[in-house]
Amino acid sequence: MTRGVSQAVATIALIGTACLPGPVPSPGPDGPAPARIPPPEPTPLPVTEQPITETPSLVGLPPIPSVVGPIALHVVYPPAGARLSASDSNFIFGSVGSGTATLRINGQTVEVKPNGSFLAFLPVPPPSPSDSIVAYELEVAQGSDTVRAQHRVSLPPEPLALPSTGPAIVDSATLAPRSRMVLERWEPVRVSVTIASAAQAELQLPDGARLPMMPTPGGASAARGTNVVVTEVPAVRLNSGAWVQVVRGRDSVRLPLPRLALADSAGPQYARLGAAPSTVPDTDRVIIGRPLAGGTYKWFLIPGTVAEVTGQFGTATRIRLDGGLQVFVDRTELAPLPPGTPAPRRVAGNARVVNSGGWTDVRIPVSEIPAYSIDADPQALILTLHGTTSNTDIINFSSTDSIVRRVTWRQVLNDRAEYRVELHGAPFGYLVMWDRNALVLRVRATPAINASRPLQGLTIAVDAGHPPAGTTGPTGLYEAVATLGIAERLKTYLEQRGASVVMTRTGPSAVALIDRPVIARRANAHAFVSVHLNAFPDGVNPFERNGTGSYYFNSWSEPLARAVQAGMVRRMGLRDLGVNYDNLAVLRPTWMPSVLCEGAFLMIPEQEAGLRTPEFQDAYARGVAEGVEQYFRTLRR
Ligand SMILES: [Zn+2]
Repeated sequence: MTRGVSQAVATIALIGTACLPGPVPSPGPDGPAPARIPPPEPTPLPVTEQPITETPSLVGLPPIPSVVGPIALHVVYPPAGARLSASDSNFIFGSVGSGTATLRINGQTVEVKPNGSFLAFLPVPPPSPSDSIVAYELEVAQGSDTVRAQHRVSLPPEPLALPSTGPAIVDSATLAPRSRMVLERWEPVRVSVTIASAAQAELQLPDGARLPMMPTPGGASAARGTNVVVTEVPAVRLNSGAWVQVVRGRDSVRLPLPRLALADSAGPQYARLGAAPSTVPDTDRVIIGRPLAGGTYKWFLIPGTVAEVTGQFGTATRIRLDGGLQVFVDRTELAPLPPGTPAPRRVAGNARVVNSGGWTDVRIPVSEIPAYSIDADPQALILTLHGTTSNTDIINFSSTDSIVRRVTWRQVLNDRAEYRVELHGAPFGYLVMWDRNALVLRVRATPAINASRPLQGLTIAVDAGHPPAGTTGPTGLYEAVATLGIAERLKTYLEQRGASVVMTRTGPSAVALIDRPVIARRANAHAFVSVHLNAFPDGVNPFERNGTGSYYFNSWSEPLARAVQAGMVRRMGLRDLGVNYDNLAVLRPTWMPSVLCEGAFLMIPEQEAGLRTPEFQDAYARGVAEGVEQYFRTLRR
């Protein structure tokens, strides 16, 4: 029996090897090109007229140049009419047009920089009593000229204050649950509402049950005179209508709850992820799984995967990946299967490990597409197959494979199998594909590094951040203009060091965020470097912590982020804000290490002025190029 199986596997292995493509520029099945990727534009925006040459350059920020002219007041942020998300203090920045003018905002003197720009962190003016509109009063003076202007923005809506006496008033907007939900019969549902401190509330059910609602620790607000009260019941008890009764003295208010439907009333329901399985698989088309409804991106599931639907929460659908894991996907990503559809039965068979030079495929036949997840260890990739029972008794791997050392597996739950793919070194990149009834984990080789010219022969993807979106500085420098200038210099410096460079954007037209890493993967780039300029969210004092930061997502990208951060800090001379883990779209791709650079803050007048100069753009680009080179130097084995 065993013998027969192994012979069959060997035969398939031969056929499979013969069909495998050799190393090609694009490592994954490409599918149709995304329509959104515009053709490369031949004319980049030149930022400097001089040719870029490697010469000792400026380190740190150049001084702000002087600009003297008539008053020309322009507030860049907050834009007129915007709704602030902070109501105590916030920043305001823009330009008065002349470095010799003076500026007062709400009576407070604000420093005007030599080029006429300003940035202030001020208390937000009090709103008018009737609405949430606030007005900044600006006064600019220069010689005998004075310009006064009012700049109006709005504030976030205030939570309702509830009076401590009189009729029982309830803020019904705080009642939960409010949206229609479909839940499993016995799962607990939290019912909560915000009430005046002196009131009581209970959950009342049609069968006459009255369940007191308890104040939550930390839910009381002395300023608003309110309390958050809560109770928890199984979903089935909210299936036939229920309401919250709020009582104070002889006054009471009844708040009906939406009727909950039960997910399991008609037996288990299954759905297929994504549209109908595509005839052309494309590893870039994934279905996002989240740990919470509306939460962060955590799982990247293959279109065609079948999963049990266990609940609806507004626009989010909860699915069961296995007996120990449920995740949320967007409702629009699911095609329900007819009632009576049997549960998927996934069995993983004998695995093969096939080296193709640039990568090694770990190929695990599974009877249906499994939900999967991957975790990286310092020298291993751990592939979890959810809803899958492993029956692997043979794993064949080559003694000469320089990427994969061995593969072990264990059954973690009845329906969760885990394959540990041990590597000869740290992971460099991987792809997961569904190919001819097998899950394929394609593990990428770390490139061979030339000791004296570490970037020789490598391909680096350079991503000039934005458009769409992007931030703007006090004198109107748009992030995407500066990032393109920096990216073009970075391209030059990387090419001087022997790399081929793929630009995700070469002109002013927008390139969608999700297309940028796809361009890099299809070019088989060895690193993805995204160039950005930072901004603070509302309410943060911009003078306290601005400077240079780097971002990574996959653990093996952390050394790249660290090297690039060191290069930028050395060249740009700004405060070192460190290296950050962040779940950003351009950092999630797995085929190559990726870094996102936030070299400077565009809203800081000195940094914006610097970013207008070829010298400071050059310092940014040079720091990144040196960091990328240093990273690959340390990869040399
Ligand atoms: Zn940006």
